[in-house]
Amino acid sequence: MLWKTTEYAAWGNVHKAKGQIARPERAATLERILAEAPAPAFGNRRSYGDSPLNDGGRAIDMTRMDKIIGFDPATGVVEAEAGVTLAELIRLFAAKGWIPAVVPGTGFATIGGAIANDVHGKNHHVDGSFGAHVLAITLQSAGKRVTATPERLKTLFRATLGGIGQTGVIVSAKLQMKRIPGAAMRVSERRIMSWKDHIDALEGSTATYAVSWIDAQAKGATMGRGILEEAELTDATPPGPSRAKSVPVAIGLFSNSLFARAFNEVYFRRVPEAGRTSVKRLEEFFFPLDKVHAMNRLYGKGGFHQFQCVVPPDQTEALGQMMSKIARSGLGSPLAVLKRMGPFRAGMLSFPTEGYTLAVDFPNRTRAVKLIEELEAMTAAAGGRLYLAKDSLAPGDTIKAMYPEWQAWAREAAKADPDGDLMTNMVRRLDLRTAAETTQ
Ligand SMILES: Cc1cc2nc3c(=O)[nH]c(=O)nc-3n(C[C@H](O)[C@H](O)[C@H](O)COP(=O)(O)OP(=O)(O)OC[C@H]3O[C@@H](n4cnc5c(N)ncnc54)[C@H](O)[C@@H]3O)c2cc1C
Repeated sequence: MLWKTTEYAAWGNVHKAKGQIARPERAATLERILAEAPAPAFGNRRSYGDSPLNDGGRAIDMTRMDKIIGFDPATGVVEAEAGVTLAELIRLFAAKGWIPAVVPGTGFATIGGAIANDVHGKNHHVDGSFGAHVLAITLQSAGKRVTATPERLKTLFRATLGGIGQTGVIVSAKLQMKRIPGAAMRVSERRIMSWKDHIDALEGSTATYAVSWIDAQAKGATMGRGILEEAELTDATPPGPSRAKSVPVAIGLFSNSLFARAFNEVYFRRVPEAGRTSVKRLEEFFFPLDKVHAMNRLYGKGGFHQFQCVVPPDQTEALGQMMSKIARSGLGSPLAVLKRMGPFRAGMLSFPTEGYTLAVDFPNRTRAVKLIEELEAMTAAAGGRLYLAKDSLAPGDTIKAMYPEWQAWAREAAKADPDGDLMTNMVRRLDLRTAAETTQ
């Protein structure tokens, strides 16, 4: 196997890593690599922080392990290698009447990455997280291949969902997909004028898919204004695909607060006062940001951070205070999203919990880092938690306090990977595994 020394980063482009990368194409090659030199895996590195990085060590790029192993058109059960992307599952199976039951805001997420972060979508309040639809996960460690299901090796199964790749390399998985009436979405958009109206609208929404864009620059009476999108699957005919755009160089537009304010004003007014309903292609609804290739370059060479928290349903006032702080800082980029979450959690380190989740991008600047630290403390005080797929700044103690099952998780990870070969930059930064070994 060819190891190639490579410099790489995750989506936020703040943390960089240098190390040897292997890109196996077959399960047998992966098995051989792990027997010789066990190493953590990554997918398309669509996580923002340091979870897919192993600076100074080896790592396995799983994106070439992208084969569909089996599909039953009667039940919608698909078995696929971990490197298959969620966009590819939609492309292959939507026309046959099936799509993944849960997809995040990017179709570039691989099945391995979707399991390892137990990702959520715009329908968490109805369909739960990705892990709720995983029937089996096949994991490879040095010299050992096991398949965990909700019934067999169930502790390992729960430790793997959201387990940031620490219980073995995910080789493949069996997923229950969702039956769809047609390959399109009927989407209603309406303006929401304030934070309180926003919470009320999300609370009262009966839509299967609901997500809000928030104007992170709006202050005073309009603080928290935005656009609520509610959607249902439909058999209506969607329009043809729109042309993809690309950000050719790291131009830093989204790091400029004047640009962000002007952009937000136009974006808010794009939906008429009376609202509007349209039919969209599935990809356009699920993955709007994927249309702009190398979107992360909009923050310039310094990169960016995403702050994402979830707080319990009775803490919307605390979340409003966070939003207000963000608006006053003028640092929030145009990418800011509010969603309601249901109670479902699949894994020990899964992020979703019942309440409201807020995600805001910030350019990587000293003031923004300080602001994020304050927002993290406010999240902790509100009994909420931060999302490991986005984090690269939080201290380990803060994260551990937010994930009550982390010690049980770490014990399971230690069983699967006793020598700590699968540790990544994130795991080392948060000291997620060493601490548990001493508390057993
Ligand atoms: C534009 C955008 C929108 C997003 N929207 C959402 C959203 O709405 N909801 C949400 O939940 N997330 C969202 N995300 C985050 C994204 O879905 C997750 O970070 C996802 O895990 C990325 O998948 P990946 O394949 O790129 O994994 P990577 O980022 O490469 O890896 C993520 C983690 O999984 C581990 N891993 C990956 N593959 C394997 C494997 N085969 N075996 C073992 N471990 C593995 C890595 O070690 C790492 O810890 C968004 C990201 C972007 C860029």
